[in-house]
Amino acid sequence: MEHIDVAVIGGGQSGVAAAHVLLRRGLRPVVLEASDRAAGSWPHYYDSLTLFSPARYSSLPGMPFPGADRDRYPHRDEVVAYLTAYAGRLDAEIRTGCRVSAVRRAGDGFGVELEGGGRLSARAVVAASGTFGHPHRPALPGLEGFTGQVLHAADYRSPAPFAGRRVVVVGAGNSAVQIAAELAETARVTLATRGPVKFAAQRILGRDLHFWTARTGLDTAPLGRFLSRPPAQPVLDDGRYRAALAAGRPDRRALFTGADGAKALWPDGQREEVDAIVLATGYHPDLAYLAGLDGALDAAGNPRHREGLATGVPGLAFVGLEWQRSLSSNSLRGVGRDADRIARRLAAHLTRR
Ligand SMILES: Cc1cc2nc3c(=O)[nH]c(=O)nc-3n(C[C@H](O)[C@H](O)[C@H](O)COP(=O)(O)OP(=O)(O)OC[C@H]3O[C@@H](n4cnc5c(N)ncnc54)[C@H](O)[C@@H]3O)c2cc1C
Repeated sequence: MEHIDVAVIGGGQSGVAAAHVLLRRGLRPVVLEASDRAAGSWPHYYDSLTLFSPARYSSLPGMPFPGADRDRYPHRDEVVAYLTAYAGRLDAEIRTGCRVSAVRRAGDGFGVELEGGGRLSARAVVAASGTFGHPHRPALPGLEGFTGQVLHAADYRSPAPFAGRRVVVVGAGNSAVQIAAELAETARVTLATRGPVKFAAQRILGRDLHFWTARTGLDTAPLGRFLSRPPAQPVLDDGRYRAALAAGRPDRRALFTGADGAKALWPDGQREEVDAIVLATGYHPDLAYLAGLDGALDAAGNPRHREGLATGVPGLAFVGLEWQRSLSSNSLRGVGRDADRIARRLAAHLTRR
């Protein structure tokens, strides 16, 4: 069996940033990536998506986000190109087409099982597999019997297939509001939420919000350990989403109370034919491959960790979890900082053994 130093599971922004800092700490990572390239989930985001942070606040460690205009909000495709270039410059092996199916204890380290039957042994494991592969699909009233189209935001690409149709977008976060506003340009759209949509200003006193969170230290304050679950993020808005909702494009309603065939049942008793329901209801950590590793996950499948280090499994770490340590933990700008702390601890752990 092949023996490796550190198995990094996932070749998205978290995995490549982790590999970069592990190398700097003298460890030899091998990145195991299920897809055919090391760009994480970014190639699968919807076509119109731009970063919510300006280029100057969107760099992984060791390579600034390119482009002369540091204050622009880069498009999805620029992020894919940046991650691809970052991975290409990495002095670590990245094995694409390599999906990890299980991680188990093996002696002092781990056995890493690959889909298709391969097996490796690793001294340490960094789980950097993100959330995109595990969309949250809540059990909404009547949804099971609804005969129209139901899709998760993870499968949404562009408004074109929905032009002229009646669409309900469920959710109150950034993706829900962005998708609903985009669809509302060519479709009849309702944003269905459990409560009011909370907004945060993209710009304050002429500066992007990220300037202020960096300047005040809020971006890096280690508040994650005090949160039992990640708080809901407000919708970042330069004014266009508030205006769209105020204009009723989309309109906002309380969540439907049921469905009957292709009809949604609204709380006021109205029954209305709906073509499609888009669930912009978030994601869970995609860590099923750790299910057989005692102590790694709680009963709900969430990682047991403190600031990214597994509490019950020495040598196992997580990178890129939301609020893993701070507000910026699962962002391009913050993941390298978290990964570096973890790399230092893993290096110390492996030296002690
Ligand atoms: C719509 C949307 C917009 C966003 N906008 C921003 C933004 O503007 N700025 C920002 O900083 N963040 C943004 N984020 C958050 C950020 O994109 C994600 O947090 C980020 O993609 C997470 O990176 P990651 O590397 O942890 O996970 P991913 O990008 O999901 O990468 C995980 C990788 O692991 C691989 N993988 C999964 N399971 C396995 C396995 N078993 N074996 C091997 N490989 C596996 C996957 O193929 C994937 O390549 C956004 C997220 C979404 C959904």
